[in-house]
Formats: sequence, C-alpha cells, structure tokens
Amino acid sequence: MNKLLKGQIEEFLGDINSVPQDIEPLFQAISDAYDDFDTNQHLTKSNIAISSEELREANLRLSREVSKQKEVQENIKQTLSLLTATLESTADGILVVDLKGKVVSYNKKFLHLWRIPNSIVESGDDNKLLAHVLDQLIDPEGFLNGVRRLYASVEEESFDLLNFKDGRVFERFSKPQRVEDETVGRVWSFHDITERIKAEAALSESKHRLDIVLNSILTGVVIIDAKTHKIVDANPLAAELIGLPKGEIVGKVCHKFICPAEVGKCPMSDLGQTVDQAERVLVKGNGREIPILKTVTPASWQGRSYFIESFIDITALKEAKKRQDELLERVKKTNQELEDFAYIISHDLKAPLRGISTLATWISTDYADKFDQEGKEQINLLITRVGRMHDLIEGVLQYSRVGRLNEEQVYINLNDLIPEAIDMVSPPDNIKVIVENELPVIKCERTRIIQVFQNLISNAIKYMDKPEGWVKIDSVEEESQWVFSVSDNGPGIEEKYFEKIFQIFQSVSLRDGIESTGVGLTVAKKIVELYGGRIWIESNPGHGSTFFFSLPKQESEVHDAKYETNNVS
Ligand code: ADP
Repeated sequence: MNKLLKGQIEEFLGDINSVPQDIEPLFQAISDAYDDFDTNQHLTKSNIAISSEELREANLRLSREVSKQKEVQENIKQTLSLLTATLESTADGILVVDLKGKVVSYNKKFLHLWRIPNSIVESGDDNKLLAHVLDQLIDPEGFLNGVRRLYASVEEESFDLLNFKDGRVFERFSKPQRVEDETVGRVWSFHDITERIKAEAALSESKHRLDIVLNSILTGVVIIDAKTHKIVDANPLAAELIGLPKGEIVGKVCHKFICPAEVGKCPMSDLGQTVDQAERVLVKGNGREIPILKTVTPASWQGRSYFIESFIDITALKEAKKRQDELLERVKKTNQELEDFAYIISHDLKAPLRGISTLATWISTDYADKFDQEGKEQINLLITRVGRMHDLIEGVLQYSRVGRLNEEQVYINLNDLIPEAIDMVSPPDNIKVIVENELPVIKCERTRIIQVFQNLISNAIKYMDKPEGWVKIDSVEEESQWVFSVSDNGPGIEEKYFEKIFQIFQSVSLRDGIESTGVGLTVAKKIVELYGGRIWIESNPGHGSTFFFSLPKQESEVHDAKYETNNVS
C-alpha cells in the first residue's frame, strides 16, 4: 500500500489491519491512485525543472537578442545621422525617388539649387515640383525624355548637363538605388558648374586670343623652360624663321637655334639679368646664321619658370643700315669735296677779282678827266659790283671754312668770350650790348662759337633802326642742352621770312648803306647744326627780333663743367 495512504489510515483508524475487508479493494484503488499521483507529481516536478531550465535559457537568449537589437538600433541611428550630415553637407543637390518617380527624399541643397519654394515642398505635390523644375530649363522636353528613358531602364546610370534659362549649368548624375540586390528607386545628384563653365570659357577665350596673337604677330616667339633650357612652344613665325616644323623645334635646347655662343653664359639664367634685349644670332635648321633682335623676359606659371623669347629677323635692316652707312660716307666725302672745291674756287677767284678792283680804281683816278659823267658813274658801279662780288666770294669762303677746319674742342667760359665778340663788332655809341646773366662754360671750338655770336650780334647792330638800340645776350640751361639768345629792339622780321633768312645769299630787306651778303645766318646755322643744335628766330616786326640757338651738352661737359668753371673763372 502507498506509504502516505497507509500513514493517513493508521492516523485515523490506528491499525491498518482494522480496515474492513470489503473496503480493502477501495483502499487498494486509492493506494494505486496515490501511487499514480506520486508518479505524476514526480514527473511533473521533473518536467517543471526541465521547463524552468529552458525558460532560463530562452530568457538569456531573449535578453541577448534585445541588447543586440539595441546595438543595431544605435548603429542605425549613427548611420542615419552620418548619412543626413553627409547629405546636407555636400555641395550637390540630392533627390531620391522610388521606381515610379515619386519623391522619397532630398537634401536642402537640392531645394536651394532648384530654387524650390517652401510652398511646393510643403504641398508634397510631385507634379508641382516637376513643373517648377521644367520652367527653369532651356530644353524641358529633352529633360523629360531623359528622365522617362531612365525610368524605363531602372538599372541604367546617367550623366549629362542641364542648361538653365538664367545661364546656369548643372551636372546631372543619376544612379539606381539598391536594397541588397533589388533596385528600389533612383538617386539624382545635381552639381552647379556655372562658375567653372564661365572660368573654362574665359580661359579658352584668353587662350584663343593668345593663339591668335602668337599666330599673327610678325615676331618669332619661343617659350623656354628656364631650368632645362628646352623649348616648350614656338609660334608659326618662329618655326618659319628657324626653317623647321614646330614638332622638330619643341623639346630641343634653345641654344641649338638661338644665341649658340651663349651656352653657359645666358644673360637670363647664368648672368642674372631680368630682361635681355640684344642683337643675337639665330641658327636656322639648315645651319645658316641670320642676325636677330631678341627680347627675353621671364615668366612663371603652375610653379614652373619660363623664358619668353621674342625675336625678329634683322637681316634686311642690317643690310639697309650698311647701305645707309656707305651712302652717308659717300655723301660726307662728296660734301667734303664740294667744300674743298668751293674753298679753292673762291680762294682762286679772289686774286683776279682783286686785280680787277685795283685796275678799276686806277682807271677811275688816272682817267678821271677823260670820263664824262656817265662814264664816271659806270666805273664807280663797276668798282661797287666788284666789291660786292668780293664779299660774296668771302662769304662762300667763310661758309666752306666751317666744314673744313677742325679745331680742338676746349672748355670755353662764355663770360670771357662774349666781350671779345662784342669788341670785334665795335658797336656804335647809340647801341648798348648787354649780357643779361652769368653765361656758362661749354666745351666747343673757340673760333666757331665766337663766329656764331659775332654774326648774330653784328646783324642786330647792322639792322638796328632805332636811335637808342639795345642788344641782349642770355642763356638758359635745360636738362640736356643750353639755349642761347641774342635779342634786339631793331626792325624785326616778318614770319614769312623766318626760313629764308637762314639760306645762303638770302637777304630780306636791303637798306641803303648796309653791306649784306646773306651769308652770316647760314654760317651760324651750319656751325650750330654741326654741334647737333638748332637755330631759330622769334620776332615782333617793328619791335625787334630774338635769335635762339641750342647746343646739346656734351657727355663730358655734364660731368666736368662744374670743375672747369672753377678753374676758368
Ligand atoms: P646779311 O646780314 O649779310 O644779309 P645774314 O644771313 O646774316 O646775311 O642775314 C640774312 C637776312 O636776315 C638779312 O639780310 C636781314 O634781312 C635779316 N636779318 C638778320 N638779322 C637781323 C636782325 N637782327 N634784325 C633784322 N633783320 C635781320
């Protein structure tokens, strides 16, 4: 019998054996039930134990799962914030649409680039958005066709340019959006390249302009790498002058063609000059050498230094210069011959003329009683004309002497020389000759310079028509020359004669008793011009004239004048 049942019976009945026989089977059934119960309870207990273990494990798994989920969620949050930050910080406008083209997402830059107002954004109406986009484009139809084509082939990627009515240009890039292996939509990105396009256009425009200039100028231009001395570019004229196609010039060392003698002593790279401008030699492709005038300037771009060499062929110029020098030499020689000839002729003519003059004077005195009045007048006319002819010949002599005589140039203190010149012309009492200011010391030939002053002062005195006359001598120092003046209060000269009076044998107003040959100013002009100066006149007819002449300072004069002034005075 079941122990528990047996215990309970004995507790109630005292002794198990006192249980009546007829209920024994009942007890036996109860005992079996107790046993079954025990067995079940035992089983249930062990089942409960098993279940609790499983539950614990499940619980553990669940909590692990939960923390994993949390971690995943955290990761997703992180990724999402990273994605949003990236999306918002990019310079591109991004738009994400589903497979039907419905807007799924976009960044602020997209709204900004397409100037989409908040009202459209808030409406969520894709059609309004599309209309706003299309309205800004030059080719809305082309835009739509492109979009349609891409929606038809979901896997395709695309890249194109969008031109806006307001001049902006966008790059448009489109890529399918995939989730695992499945395409779920499309990402569009827009990049504003207006400034880049403008910069590229400006660059290409200036390159085009530069090409036009380089291709059309009549100067050969080569660009040389300052480090390697290799030619990196050459314009058509450079190629033509060198006589080789550009392809055979580029890459070669510049000295192969230009200034072959300057290897290792290039004025720019070896001697440190900043600009080189000189006559050099160009060696043509065929080895022939031609003279060139070249200019080299340094330049640098993209971190590299270059020399820009431009040059012109001066062969013709040199030949012309040579011819000019030869011609000048011939002219000089001919002039010298002419001057010698004029000198000899005038010198030789003076002797017979002097004879005629003497003879005529004798005749007029010895045969005075034989001549009637008319005869006397004619013999006097003959004497006057012979006298005039003598003066003219003397003038030619004077003129030719200017070019013939070469005197040593010395420093002359004009404050000493001018009184001498004044004395030589012996001014009458009614004419005052005044030196206005201190005169300079100049380097020149004494006889020549005294002749200039003497001719001008004697003219002023000779032509003086006022009872109280004055002649003033003055000088002005300019940077590279002295300007002297001789002015008077005489009759003056009309402007129309200003040029004529400097021509030989030209006199303007012949007055009775004035000896005039028309040589004085011509001689003065010749002397002044020999020094590289100029002579001219300013006049107020009736009131006087001022003759000016300039004398360029000689190089040594500029430095030495001060020193010499101290010594002379
Ligand atoms: P000449 O005095 O022998 O005629 P010049 O060559 O010295 O030759 O002068 C040329 C002309 O210029 C003169 O004939 C005169 O008419 C004019 N002339 C020169 N100097 C003066 C002056 N100071 N005042 C007026 N006329 C002048």
